[in-house]
Amino acid sequence: MKTPTVFLSFGLLIVANLSDGSRLAKADDDAPNWQRLSEWTRALSEKYGFEVATAREPYADKATKYQPTTWESYVSFVPVLEESLGRLPVDFLKAAGLRKLVLCGEIEHYQIKYPGLAEPLNSLIYIDVRALISDKIQQMIYDRSRLFHEFYHLVDHDLCYNPVSRAYSDYAWQGLNAADFRYVIDGGERPVNSGLKEPMPGFLTSYCRQAIGEDKSEIFAWLIVRPDLVEAKQADDRILKAKVDSLKETLKKKYPGMDDKFWLDNQKSYHNMRPRPQGVPKTP
Ligand SMILES: [Zn+2]
Repeated sequence: MKTPTVFLSFGLLIVANLSDGSRLAKADDDAPNWQRLSEWTRALSEKYGFEVATAREPYADKATKYQPTTWESYVSFVPVLEESLGRLPVDFLKAAGLRKLVLCGEIEHYQIKYPGLAEPLNSLIYIDVRALISDKIQQMIYDRSRLFHEFYHLVDHDLCYNPVSRAYSDYAWQGLNAADFRYVIDGGERPVNSGLKEPMPGFLTSYCRQAIGEDKSEIFAWLIVRPDLVEAKQADDRILKAKVDSLKETLKKKYPGMDDKFWLDNQKSYHNMRPRPQGVPKTP
């Protein structure tokens, strides 16, 4: 996903405030409790069958780097993660083959910063949990759409990657686009608009035009987080509607639980999503 526009070192401000002696009792109440955080993430790991890690040290390999971040950022994000995972059928989460979900600070992949990153070949997802946006609703959408977007990259890999030929292909999806359309990664034109302002028929957001995998991940994430917006946009967009139908049909065939009832239930319950807590988070 592309880099967000807002980053605040919110956690550092909290630590500075708590060093004030007049707030000592409060500081004790809210002191970082890494062990309890670990117990919380371990419970999620056991439930879903993949490791949920909170980065404590900087990490770098040939392609990817990340930094650790503050306890406050982790503690405010884990409830969002817990609620988001709870929206998907457990068997679907397990089937996608995710091995490890890393919550961390700044993420770089080949020197480019990303707020979220999926590495399907390594069965990994990284999420930068620092971002705080002043608009709570935007924050709610941003946090969850990143999670569901990155998760869908693993699902898509499971569906469309051939480990023998080591090739990714989805000719059926490509065939839904206009014959002369090319994704940016294949030499197509870069969009000038951003997000849902994408005016090109067939594409939900501008980032959908980046690559075939991004097209699908964006649609899946928005279908979960704001199905009303997808519904409105596909109403007069034949290509987009075909893509939404195709994505749902593919999931329904492959994963029990990702059926019509799942989407109906989500339609009824997406309003209940809440932004991550702001202010000093409570010890879990
Ligand atoms: Zn992506």
